[in-house]
Amino acid sequence: MLVIFLLLSSVASAATLKVRVGAGTVEMDLESYVAAAVAGEASVLRSNEALKALAVAARTYAIYYRGRHASEGYDLCATTHCQRLDSGAVTARIQSAVEATFGELLWYQGRPAFAAYSRSCGGVTEDASAVWPELGAPYLRSRRDPYCPPDTWQWRADPVEVVKALLASQLHTPPRIRDIVITARTASGRARVLDLGRQPISATAFRFAIGRAFGWNLLRSDRYEVHNLLFQGSGEGHGVGLCQRGADQMGVDGRGYREILAFYYPGTAVGVSGRGLAWQRLAGETVALFTTRPEADRAVLEQAERELRAAVQRTNLPAPARVEVRLYPDVATFRDATGEPGTVAAYTVGSRIQIWNREALRHEMLHVVIEAQAKPGTPVWFREGLAGYLDGSGSAPRIAALVQRYGETTVLGWLKTGLPRNY
Ligand SMILES: [Zn+2]
Ligand SMILES: [Zn+2]
Repeated sequence: MLVIFLLLSSVASAATLKVRVGAGTVEMDLESYVAAAVAGEASVLRSNEALKALAVAARTYAIYYRGRHASEGYDLCATTHCQRLDSGAVTARIQSAVEATFGELLWYQGRPAFAAYSRSCGGVTEDASAVWPELGAPYLRSRRDPYCPPDTWQWRADPVEVVKALLASQLHTPPRIRDIVITARTASGRARVLDLGRQPISATAFRFAIGRAFGWNLLRSDRYEVHNLLFQGSGEGHGVGLCQRGADQMGVDGRGYREILAFYYPGTAVGVSGRGLAWQRLAGETVALFTTRPEADRAVLEQAERELRAAVQRTNLPAPARVEVRLYPDVATFRDATGEPGTVAAYTVGSRIQIWNREALRHEMLHVVIEAQAKPGTPVWFREGLAGYLDGSGSAPRIAALVQRYGETTVLGWLKTGLPRNY
């Protein structure tokens, strides 16, 4: 009984990523998370195609790292450690870039790729092995970025302040710095090891110490030359993967987001699943069905329309103006895109259904109709139970008992009025 209930049930109000924000955690569905991450991480992007490319990268990054903070009780943090979120800064442009790439991930050999990205590569992207030696991601090799507009900076280090900054970050430093010399470089030519006069020090550790002490706008990347304590460099950030400035230029030049992603992550595929399947839209009367197999799934659109009409009839509630159904080709793809376990057949938010098992359409259409009418704050057990009661699966004994006592019309009416104090 429990198994059947789980298989048929969608958790209408549950979210898919547990995110640490400030001192607490919030649950976010993946697409809202992606919009907030694009808003938080994007430098000013003029091109909508670059925004779409960044949305796919941010979504893939989240799936790759989901559960990164599991030992602390959540999936991802909302800082640059994972991805910086800024829900308040989501614009209509960002929202449509996220919608246009709904559920799409970057795949490598059938698995979500490690979709690193940075603000500006300064003309040459960095090899992933320089930053994450254990990773082994052949799609993140250093390459020249001809699209990257010039992005140079310089910073003159004050030797006394540098010593203080290094000590504050608990790094070894000579008491006085006379000169800084690059003694080893990465595959892309960035500084890897510095000599400050005593022990060698990692260039990245040096940059982080300077950033923490004086802000991140001075020593912006490890791509520089240094003479007499004058740093002259280009780019911003680690430089691995998609370069936002280069991507933006590609978009301005008229290239599409798939082309942008193919340039920065060569050998990967963009799609809903590891097989590179893409969404196609089949439009019905009220339902729009997004499927990766339009030929095979045409009958599902008819089934969805039928179940929506049945749900309206059964509940006497009005149908929403539009219902969207995303039909995933298999449970693995559904799991990757929604984060729901394979024991859940579908996931419904408002009038948008995500589903892999078409058997669950009846139940989900009831949810759509119920959700459209439910007064804010109506408890999940009641909404979920109503759908379970009305779909005839006998999976909601609590609602069945209420109906026996008060009658179906009264119990359904509680959706709009809220539950009475004593029932
Ligand atoms: Zn984190
Ligand atoms: Zn670049």
